[in-house]
Amino acid sequence: MTETPEEPAYAEDTWDRSNQGKGSGLHQQHSGLSRFGKRQWHFFFWYLLAVLALIAIANRFFLANRLVETIEFSQFKEKIRQGEIKRVEMGRTQYVGFPFTRAQIEHMLANNIPEKSGKTPKVYRTVPVPDESFLPLLDKKGVEYYGKSEEHGLLTEFILNWVLPIGFMMLLWHLLSQRMGKLGQGIMSFGGNRAQLVAEGEIEVRFEDVAGVEEAKEELVEIVDFLQRPERYSALGGRIPKGVLLVGPPGTGKTLCARAVAGEAGVPFFKMSGADFVELFVGMGAARVRDLFRQAREKAPCIIFIDELDAIGKARGAGAVGGHDEREQTLNQLLVEMDGFDSRSGVVILAATNRPEILDPALLRPGRFDRQILVDRPDLTGREQILRRHAKDVKLAPSIDLREIAARTPGFAGADLANLVNEAALLAVRRGLEEVTQQEFEDAIERIVAGLEKRNRLLNDKERRIVAVHESGHALTAAFTPGADPVKKITIVPRGMGALGYTMQTPMEDRFLMSEKELLGKIDVLLGGRAAEEVAFGEISTGAANDLTRATEIARKIVAEYGMSEKFRHVVLQTSSSPGFLGEANAPSTRDYSEKTQQYIDETVARIIEKRYDTVITMLRNNKSLLDRLAERLLATETLSEKEFNRILESPGETPAPN
Ligand code: ADP
Ligand code: ZN
Ligand code: MG
Repeated sequence: MTETPEEPAYAEDTWDRSNQGKGSGLHQQHSGLSRFGKRQWHFFFWYLLAVLALIAIANRFFLANRLVETIEFSQFKEKIRQGEIKRVEMGRTQYVGFPFTRAQIEHMLANNIPEKSGKTPKVYRTVPVPDESFLPLLDKKGVEYYGKSEEHGLLTEFILNWVLPIGFMMLLWHLLSQRMGKLGQGIMSFGGNRAQLVAEGEIEVRFEDVAGVEEAKEELVEIVDFLQRPERYSALGGRIPKGVLLVGPPGTGKTLCARAVAGEAGVPFFKMSGADFVELFVGMGAARVRDLFRQAREKAPCIIFIDELDAIGKARGAGAVGGHDEREQTLNQLLVEMDGFDSRSGVVILAATNRPEILDPALLRPGRFDRQILVDRPDLTGREQILRRHAKDVKLAPSIDLREIAARTPGFAGADLANLVNEAALLAVRRGLEEVTQQEFEDAIERIVAGLEKRNRLLNDKERRIVAVHESGHALTAAFTPGADPVKKITIVPRGMGALGYTMQTPMEDRFLMSEKELLGKIDVLLGGRAAEEVAFGEISTGAANDLTRATEIARKIVAEYGMSEKFRHVVLQTSSSPGFLGEANAPSTRDYSEKTQQYIDETVARIIEKRYDTVITMLRNNKSLLDRLAERLLATETLSEKEFNRILESPGETPAPN
């Protein structure tokens, strides 16, 4: 549906509880090693190498030196002369002098004599110098000496110094890459692409499989037509949107809609989930995006479907500094690719999200996902259709009343209803029945409702009644306010993003200027919701929080910006907010007027709101029975179109008394 054509086109209501439990499981979090990017990985490699080298050096200089001391050749000879060295191992590159003879060592080993002398006898090492007096000296002192085969020593050294560390590194590398291979796609497949290419005709889903979201389907039909006959559009020079964003709560059939478009058009369908792009290595998600678009261009006409767009499309710069460069790069690449191709090339990008409010605004700019399609929770009729659709494959008792079941499941999304049919069928099997009866459905509803209530997604009867009255209040006020935009649709089907119901108005014409009276009329309509609650129940709820914020904002503008107050008529009371240091969010705003004036503004705003509220209350009291009838009707059907609304207004029972 086309919506929000002009600023407060519809009054939307946020109940406090409606926002809880919404964060679905999209949040991707890797832990431990998987957080390494390519760069970090390199860094880690060199770091490890450096540490190993340090250990080796330390080993040489500190640990080994306590026992083996490297000395000059002359000192070595001196030690021999003094009898400190009793045995010499003569290699080609070094001599090693030991403090004991072989016999002494054997004796000590045999008798298990620990070394008694206070200081540890040292082993000396030296680099030999050609010296003809050396051997005679050894003979003279009775020092044992023997030659050492260098080849073996070198080999051992080589193995110790090179083969082992490198082998160790390779083992480590292998283990790590295996671990990461499980999470990502292995180190060797940079840029590898996991988009599944579903060949033409493989998608069986058709529009008739998607029930209860007629408005979304109507908009998607155009895209199917474009995909089937792109030449026609390019010949006329028409611009089909490149990107279409399917927005709606989980389980309402967004993915199903995207598949249906591909199925109807009979074009290849590239599906990727936003989470697939968030990769281990910096730059890989971006490479994947590039790859995906390249493939898609080759297969045009086709559809690229990015499910759970919010996983990559989160607003940049939000969150920790520097912590998200991977996602940011991926997002940037996506933007670049979307800008880089012509929509006439026949590639349509569909994306789905249940949290459009967190998307980066750049994604929603013209030429990108500039068209949004709301895939909302179904109303009564919609639910009935979805049930009918899913019950096709189930053997139902003839007595079953699907309308009745639909009436008992307000707030259920398509997936919940599919689940319901399945549960009922399972229950019937468990009970050994031939066919599914109403009883199984009743029991299944109870089970599912309990689960959904826990997740805070369902309203109880009392809450639904309040919402119905509240929305009726908006609609009635709009109908009775001269110059207000006509009511287009009223619904109490909880709308995804925290709204429990809404009343949509279409502006009659594009407006650049508004009179004071029209501004007050807008306030009236916004206050209508809460006023209706008070008239009907004598009690107000938190549901009007958003309405009140907007009403107050308009009132404040009337006083401070538009110069429409009594005291400061034609005077603008400005607040200038200086941009904070480095874009700091809470930069203090300075006002260019006195504290007293501020007080006047606050009081006047409060007075305006109060006065408008009283007017609306009076109007609604005078039309109480109409309000009741409207709310009843809304409770029964959940959605009222403009026509139905007007019919109720004009129906006999009471002559509407305009205020
Ligand atoms: P979303 O992508 O919006 O979270 P899905 O498209 O994945 O929801 O829906 C999950 C399943 O629920 C679908 O495969 C389908 O069986 C069922 N379903 C959801 N919405 C509808 C619908 N409008 N009509 C028929 N079946 C639906
Ligand atoms: Zn409201
Ligand atoms: Mg989905």
